[in-house]
Amino acid sequence: MNAGYVSIDRRKLLTRGSAMAAALSLARVPARAADIDVVVVGAGAAGIAAAQALKAAGRGVVVLEARSRTGGRAFTDASLGPAYDAGAMYIHWAERNPWVAIARELGIETAPESGGGGFRAFADGRPMAAADRARRRDAFRQIDRRLETLDIGARDMSIAELLGDLGPEMAPIATSGLLLSIGEESSRISARDYQRLWSGDDLVVPSGYGNLVARSGAGLDLRLNEPVDAIDWGGSAVAVTTRSGTLRAKACIVTVPVGVLKAEAIRFSPALPAATRDALDGLHMGALTKIALKVEGDRFGISPGASLLESGKPEGLINFDMYPDGKDIVIGYCGGDFARQLSQAGPDEARAHATELLAKMIGGDFRKTVKAAAFPAWWTDPFARGSYSVCAPGHDAAREALALPIGGRLLIAGEATAGGGAMTVGGATLAGRAAAAALMRLKA
Ligand SMILES: Cc1cc2nc3c(=O)[nH]c(=O)nc-3n(C[C@H](O)[C@H](O)[C@H](O)COP(=O)(O)OP(=O)(O)OC[C@H]3O[C@@H](n4cnc5c(N)ncnc54)[C@H](O)[C@@H]3O)c2cc1C
Repeated sequence: MNAGYVSIDRRKLLTRGSAMAAALSLARVPARAADIDVVVVGAGAAGIAAAQALKAAGRGVVVLEARSRTGGRAFTDASLGPAYDAGAMYIHWAERNPWVAIARELGIETAPESGGGGFRAFADGRPMAAADRARRRDAFRQIDRRLETLDIGARDMSIAELLGDLGPEMAPIATSGLLLSIGEESSRISARDYQRLWSGDDLVVPSGYGNLVARSGAGLDLRLNEPVDAIDWGGSAVAVTTRSGTLRAKACIVTVPVGVLKAEAIRFSPALPAATRDALDGLHMGALTKIALKVEGDRFGISPGASLLESGKPEGLINFDMYPDGKDIVIGYCGGDFARQLSQAGPDEARAHATELLAKMIGGDFRKTVKAAAFPAWWTDPFARGSYSVCAPGHDAAREALALPIGGRLLIAGEATAGGGAMTVGGATLAGRAAAAALMRLKA
């Protein structure tokens, strides 16, 4: 396991597609389109789960997906040769995560992370002194220690406030780990929301978590390359519009990320109710970001699966998974405002930054081993607009409020509405299923 962050848990740190069906054009939807029971917007884990549940209950469902693939923020990228999970990688809290059973049903292996390789911490490219490492570990532990004693009945506060009395030197160190778990600065994270996130064992999917999620959509009526730009829920049916046309259904489940909703990429008419807009105001997207380097040649004595953490500047914390499972690949993780800046700067800058840091840490010849890079910059991705939802201090009721049915025929679901399962694929799946169940209760 990645000792650098495992100690914090996502409360354990999170850092750690094929198209399922031919895309039918909307023009091929029969004219009596109101015959469709439900339109699901988005074919990530939540959308697939909602559609599968509705289909199993005998409802007619169409899933409209903006991308040319399914899986959303669960995406196994093979563009560099060796495949890696560019988005979700861990089946968190495996004890109750629905993906353990889904994988079993599909005959896909899940396993504890092979790990090994050890952990090394660096400050500005130099190995960190043992005393500094110990201080750092202790600072990390303060978050959970304080959350254990936080009075949940008292007013909500940010994690930064919770740790403020650690002082200007230790507090940034204590909170820096959150950049790799929540992908956000501690001043913008609700302590109460963080406190209720589920914890447990992690598993990985050796053939790719993204591939697994994409496979789970088999058999659904999935229509790819269909970004929804308008939803009219004011009439007797819900009219969902893409550039191909308008599809009318009795009800609609919207599973796009909150970043997409907040950017108003989908125009709702009537406008979303005030309660839903308030809920959206209390949520925003974190920016956990991966940089993948395809490497060849010398491995500088570093064992496969080793974890190298550069933490000279807490705000620019970056962790590298070296040659995971022996693959010719190195994956860097960063989060928060630093990751946002890097995403804006683009793939060349990201590649250069990761390469130069590693050259400092393990030797200048590392540069020669880098052959290509991939930069899944979720922050600038128009169909994600960030890594996963973060609840702002004082807004810990936002997730429940966002999940409330709208007008008896419209529901918003996804990782953001997953309560203690928020920010995860498992949570998105549970939220998708819950939305489908709620809709069936509403529409009997
Ligand atoms: C770098 C990173 C690491 C992560 N690590 C983990 C991890 O280890 N474990 C874990 O459990 N989770 C992890 N997550 C979080 C996890 O990926 C998400 O919580 C989960 O995949 C969200 O599922 P969803 O269905 O709610 O949303 P999404 O997967 O985002 O699905 C929404 C879908 O809507 C589509 N869409 C967007 N706009 C439109 C539109 N206008 N019209 C139609 N479709 C649209 C999107 O393309 C997408 O397919 C990670 C995420 C990132 C980015």
